[in-house]
Amino acid sequence: MRNSSRPVSIHLVKTKTARDRIAELTAEIRRLNDLYYGTGDSPLPDADYDALKDELAALVAEHPELEPADSPLSTVNAPTELTGPTVRHARPMLSLAKATGDEQVRAFCDRFAGQVFRVSEKLDGLSLSVVYDGGRLDYVATRGTGAVGELVTDKARWVLPDLPTQIAAPGRVEVRGEAVMLRSTWEAYNAAHPDKPLTNPRSGAAGTLMQKDPEAAANAGRLLRFFAFGADRDGAALDVEALGIDAAAQVVCPDADAVVAAIAAIADRRNGLDYDIDGAVVRLHDPAAFDAAGFNSAEPRGAIAFKFPPEEKLTKLLAVEWPVGKIGRVPPRARVAPVFVGGVTVENITLHNPRLIRERNLRIGDTVAVVRRGDVIPFAGRSIAEDRDGSEQEIVPPARCPSCGSELEIRGTGEERWCLNLQCPAQATRRLMHWASRAAADMEGVGDIWIEKLADDGVLRRRSDFYALTVEQLLGYERMGEVSARKMVDSIERSKGLGLRRALIGLAIPMASDGTAKRLCLAGYERIEDVMAATAEELVAIRDIGPKVAESIAAFFARPEVVEEIAALREHGVSLDVLDEDRPVDTATASDSPLKGKTVVITGAFTDPRTGAKVSRPDVTRLVEQAAATTASSVSASTHYLLAGADVGASKTAKAEQLGVRVVEQPELWRWLAQAGVA
Ligand SMILES: [Zn+2]
Repeated sequence: MRNSSRPVSIHLVKTKTARDRIAELTAEIRRLNDLYYGTGDSPLPDADYDALKDELAALVAEHPELEPADSPLSTVNAPTELTGPTVRHARPMLSLAKATGDEQVRAFCDRFAGQVFRVSEKLDGLSLSVVYDGGRLDYVATRGTGAVGELVTDKARWVLPDLPTQIAAPGRVEVRGEAVMLRSTWEAYNAAHPDKPLTNPRSGAAGTLMQKDPEAAANAGRLLRFFAFGADRDGAALDVEALGIDAAAQVVCPDADAVVAAIAAIADRRNGLDYDIDGAVVRLHDPAAFDAAGFNSAEPRGAIAFKFPPEEKLTKLLAVEWPVGKIGRVPPRARVAPVFVGGVTVENITLHNPRLIRERNLRIGDTVAVVRRGDVIPFAGRSIAEDRDGSEQEIVPPARCPSCGSELEIRGTGEERWCLNLQCPAQATRRLMHWASRAAADMEGVGDIWIEKLADDGVLRRRSDFYALTVEQLLGYERMGEVSARKMVDSIERSKGLGLRRALIGLAIPMASDGTAKRLCLAGYERIEDVMAATAEELVAIRDIGPKVAESIAAFFARPEVVEEIAALREHGVSLDVLDEDRPVDTATASDSPLKGKTVVITGAFTDPRTGAKVSRPDVTRLVEQAAATTASSVSASTHYLLAGADVGASKTAKAEQLGVRVVEQPELWRWLAQAGVA
């Protein structure tokens, strides 16, 4: 035997650790998803968020038995709370029971012996309910909670251009299916937006239907396709394609053997498709039989979802690099011999952190199993020890920074390496890129490649150096034309109005998130100099700013080079003062109105009665807060009013009525706001 059995106790200890870590990661990813979809506020850079999902995926791959039932890996980053206008689905959009092997599929078919089945590709996108009334598009809603979906009709009109707005069918017709981003669309979008690529088609699809400005998204090429699974009028099935709507590929099967063969055929063609699928759906073909099968708790009995196992391919681990991040983290990144896995060619993979490299005993030259699953970056699940010939080299984390040579510190359970040298050139370049990024100064015309080049040349050393760049200077570079040079300088000039919140984000203060920047503005700091003068004790008094973050901010602004840099930015006329949109709401001036001092929940879509213009949710929140009311996210016994705009789902008002909370409609709300003197 090649493998001697391991002592049981060690295995148990490892499993327990993995279980704890999986629980920890699951909770954290869920929290971040809720934050992101609740407030649009992401407290972590995308790459760090991906790293968390990645680590979870790695642990789950090693311990599939520990995967949580509602794993954030298997959901499309769905928010647990709906934030926009909602609608109650005519029939709930339920998830399906899962099968991972042929046995389970056969058991399902046996339960319905004599029935005809339908097998379709299980598209990996976003489930939608599309409703037509009298031949015209009435609304498009997401799956949402299953019972209540979020209305995305206006967004769908832009980003789903192939979805007909009229069909030749009378009555109320509901079409259900999946919105996906084609791989070819995804690739074209990423080629055109190298600075802001979409991680993968699946998260691209979900993100596209959440865009605040769907017109801009559509113009930028973020377009989706809709494939229907079925359509019905009052429960009677309709032919989807006869309605002029694309249907998901499906095949009718007379028995279990045919079903199993159909699933295998789907798996075979999986990688050749222009869209991602993650399995197959088997359901009773006859709608009446499907309905008659009924439901068990949350799942219809008449259908089952076959999930493909994550695809795993073997390749060679060629080299390990240790790039330096903007705040000094030095993570391992591996190059592998190109391998086609999960529909894409993979050359770079993550190894997570030094602890996992050590625990998995990965070596350079090893044959490794590369896994790409859902929306996580590919990772090396394990190495194949049997393939070793002795020439493999151990992966040794660097003791010194690959960029500046200073000694690295080891931190955290992942034994991550950190460069603490504030003058480290690699960190400086990453920080310049971050300053120019969308979340901070948003210098649209300045790409990372040019930042790197200018930094290597010593022209760009500090953030304030951006503002001294001239067209003439840029024209001195090969491959830099007049138009691009002008575009760069103009976009730098325009970015000067960034304001305090974005400046705080752009400074990349260790431990401070985008949310911290927002909270500092809301806490009443007007100028960056005010934040610089604040002590850690003062900062920790701010809501949601903990002692570690407070100390980190104070220490950051105590650095002489930071003080000098702020002064240089000021000299160039860069705005480091709070913008109106980031200011706290002034409630002191509110006149008396029924809103004053009350707790309210806002739901639905709002329209200004004087102009007929749509009023965004944040604007309604702001007006209501200016009228000295407090807003809450869900109705509870302590809610005074439910402020209901248009398109409000019945569940929300029903819950309010049940709790004795008064439902206030728009006309009354606008009267109250006028009374309060804020609208
Ligand atoms: Zn360094």
